[in-house]
Amino acid sequence: MGAERSRPRFPAGQPMASFTLHGIPVSRGIAIGRAHLLAPAALDVKHYLVAEEQVEAEVSRLQHALAAVHKELQTLWNELPKDAPTELGAFIDVHALILSDPMISEAPLDIIRTRHYNAEWALLTQIDELSAQFDEIEDPYLRERKADIQQVAERVLKVMLGTEQILPAAAPTGGDEFQPQMIIVAHDISPADMLQFRDRSFIGFVTDVGGQNSHTAIVARSLDIPATVGVSGASTLVEQDDWLIIDGDAGVVIANPSALILNQYRERQSAAARARKKLQKLKKTPAITKDGTEITLLANIELPDDCQAAMEAGANGVGLFRSEFLFMGRNSKIPSEDEQFEQYKKAVVAMKGRPVTIRTLDIGADKPLDQGEQTALNPALGLRAIRYCLAEPQIFLAQLRAILRASAFGKVRILVPMLAHAFEIDQTLAMVAQAKAELREQHIKFDDDVDVGAMIEIPAAALALPMFVKRMDFLSIGTNDLIQYTLAIDRVDYEVAHLYNPLHPAVLQLISMTIAAGHKAGIDVAVCGEMAGDVKLTRLLLGMGLREFSMHPAQLLSVKQEILNSDLARIMPQTRKIMRSMEPNVIADAVEQLQLM
Ligand code: PEP
Ligand code: MG
Repeated sequence: MGAERSRPRFPAGQPMASFTLHGIPVSRGIAIGRAHLLAPAALDVKHYLVAEEQVEAEVSRLQHALAAVHKELQTLWNELPKDAPTELGAFIDVHALILSDPMISEAPLDIIRTRHYNAEWALLTQIDELSAQFDEIEDPYLRERKADIQQVAERVLKVMLGTEQILPAAAPTGGDEFQPQMIIVAHDISPADMLQFRDRSFIGFVTDVGGQNSHTAIVARSLDIPATVGVSGASTLVEQDDWLIIDGDAGVVIANPSALILNQYRERQSAAARARKKLQKLKKTPAITKDGTEITLLANIELPDDCQAAMEAGANGVGLFRSEFLFMGRNSKIPSEDEQFEQYKKAVVAMKGRPVTIRTLDIGADKPLDQGEQTALNPALGLRAIRYCLAEPQIFLAQLRAILRASAFGKVRILVPMLAHAFEIDQTLAMVAQAKAELREQHIKFDDDVDVGAMIEIPAAALALPMFVKRMDFLSIGTNDLIQYTLAIDRVDYEVAHLYNPLHPAVLQLISMTIAAGHKAGIDVAVCGEMAGDVKLTRLLLGMGLREFSMHPAQLLSVKQEILNSDLARIMPQTRKIMRSMEPNVIADAVEQLQLM
């Protein structure tokens, strides 16, 4: 991703070079503010040899720095605000773990003792060695974790060099031309730093490195702050206090924009703010199309606390509770049945009678129980989701019992991921029956009529629907995986990200077939993958007959607005035309036409 320099101009009259940088859009929206550059990486340090009698003093200098960073992380952890995104705590944990690992806490000390390197050089020598090992890793998620090790090393170096980052107070929310808000520009941002930025209400992030899975991306998304990562050269090309525009939808960063461009973006920004405010009014409005068809809008959640956002967005219930987030990052310590029950019950109670669809453990692939434990060559095709659960019946049974117990407190549905075979469905249903029988025997309450549904996310499932509709109470289409498996592209590999296309005719056929087969059999069909929350696809899915959408709560009101403006009688014929085509351009044009109807 590179830079296109254009005419030097500056909005406030002072001529400065305007240029545009391109990166990976990871968090939506427009941010306009002044650049705040983080000190360049401290990885450029002096190299010298220490005298024999100085070796132990050098060792203890490094030990003190390690201890200081440990304390710093501990303080950050203790001071985590209640509403901090859950990922932040997990990231701080990861950094603390890295810091305590002998590879960082002991190996550099050995280098000082054996090679007499100064402390900074010893630490960097070790980091370089570890980084080279990470470069060899094929899994892009794990490869990106190299950044964590470098961030930890940077913190230690900054302590030794006495250059810890001092952040200015950012302008208050809604800053103006005279007191503009700050946009962070950095080579990379550590999670601990993210936390500090959050308190100072910075309004956007740009980093040289990173991808969809980088921490900056994950945290920026959960904070709902525009961000563009992988903007190579940003931290060297952008200067302190440059005016910046981040277009988080397009992955574009404009430095020192002309007055004209600045005004255009300000207008877009205000229009977006007005639209957001207007959307809030729709919270209690039922999602009914112009010609009177009611649509169910559900929320995707990862933890019970997300129910608050779901309720605030006026969701009709939870369509996907990704239960694996209760299991991840716990050093493979599986949460007990009681612990799970409390969490499921919390979600059920928070939704006040609205249905909560709890998906059984979808562990594996890009969601291993613990980072680093993945050994399969093709984890996305390996022992994932229901395959893992059926291979670990005790874990599965405990989860099913916990879900069933929660069903005594409100409407619960069980959703099973990654099913492809009839025997998997049968074994799952047998396990549900066993869990029920055990609870009955123990006189523990549960809802005997709990619905059990299947995720349709493997092409084989979509092509063998009679096998599913005969056995299951409902279906939910996981388009994220359906696209991955249909098009044979790894959904977390940025090198094939350009091939990930929801509008590929094969994908559309599978979705449409699933909706039709479900309805023919008289069972509910939802879409719970990212497609459900993309307003550009709302009408297409309505036209295919979809009546249940499940998405991130932040997307719900925009989708509702699109539904309120849609007329099925006009959309259906156009959708039929789309479904008859196998030409990507024809499909893309026709989907655009749908927006205008
Ligand atoms: C999907 O695959 O579309 C889905 C909703 O599940 P996940 O993204 O958790 O795999
Ligand atoms: Mg999936």
